Amino acid sequence: MNIYIADDLRYEKMSYRRCGKSGLLLPEISLGFWQNFSDSGVFAEYSKIILRAFDLGITHFDLANNYGTPAGSAETNLGRLLKNELKPYRDELIISTKAGYDMWQGPYGDGGSKKYLIASLDQSLKRLGLDYVDIFYSHRPDYNTPPEETMDALIQSVKQGKALYVGLSNYDGKRTQEAVDILSKAGVRCLIHQPKYSLIKKEPKTELFPVLEKNGVGCIAFQCLAQGLLTSRYLNGIPTDSRISKNVGSIRSNDINPGLLEGLRQLNEIAENRGQTLAQMAIAWALSDERVTSVLLGASSIKQLEENVLSLSNKLFTAQELEQIDKCLGK
Ligand code: NDP
Repeated sequence: MNIYIADDLRYEKMSYRRCGKSGLLLPEISLGFWQNFSDSGVFAEYSKIILRAFDLGITHFDLANNYGTPAGSAETNLGRLLKNELKPYRDELIISTKAGYDMWQGPYGDGGSKKYLIASLDQSLKRLGLDYVDIFYSHRPDYNTPPEETMDALIQSVKQGKALYVGLSNYDGKRTQEAVDILSKAGVRCLIHQPKYSLIKKEPKTELFPVLEKNGVGCIAFQCLAQGLLTSRYLNGIPTDSRISKNVGSIRSNDINPGLLEGLRQLNEIAENRGQTLAQMAIAWALSDERVTSVLLGASSIKQLEENVLSLSNKLFTAQELEQIDKCLGK
């Protein structure tokens, strides 16, 4: 086992926001495990990114049953670190997982049934080597399952002590309200919602955020870098070590069209005038809405992680900058 001692100054490097009307604080930047932490990568290399994240005060790691290649490997690999280097720090970490997308064969490995969610959480706990996760999510609404049943699975996970809090992901405003009401009748608070939100996908601001605010639910925004599009990664071609070249994630080369590139270049210029990189401005923009508790970022290198954390030193925008930004990629 490698000896790892966390940086003593880690909590001075990060700011924390209250998650809705709860007692829980989350770091403004959280680390997402969908890509980059798979068996297909090199454990010794990506574990350095994870430990560097913790040294930067990133106390929240977000997972799901199906993250990694093969599915489940992101949980298994974090589990290795939780058993060794991160073992002394378990109580300083917020670990989340989810179930909702396709995970195993047959009718009980996908969707929103109680059968699937409960079995999946047990599998996740085994892979992570934990007795409980901090947050368990319904990963997506399942229109063929009554919401009462999906919420019943979340309620049971809390009542059995397998999850401390529960959350929703990819639910629209109407379904969020419905789910929050069902949970609340059973005495379980919906802690957090995880929507896709970025300069390219702004709809949650008007459609979802008011519902979250009204109900005191926190918000952790995913893909606010649009899988790398809202960074300098693709401004001058497609690098060979990028997500698009490696054919992982869900962006492809034909997503980069001349209209998008023009908008990204305009945004990059605004970012430069603010003394930021495009990635840093995209992160700061997402956090400029106080209803956003945290942004959930993927990173394929320590350099990216460090660049992204530096965005926190300039989160203020002038009205003129916001107006210019709004014009670049449409509403
Ligand atoms: P992001 O928008 O965070 O993109 C991450 C990618 O952007 C990195 O892998 C890297 O690409 C590139 N990147 C990051 N920082 C920089 C930088 N400073 N400069 C240049 N490039 C950079 O999207 P993800 O898809 O990774 O999602 C983040 C997390 O959100 C996931 O891990 C997961 O936890 C969550 N998520 C939740 C979903 C849900 O349904 N609830 C769905 C999808 C994600 P490269 O690899 O090319 O270097």
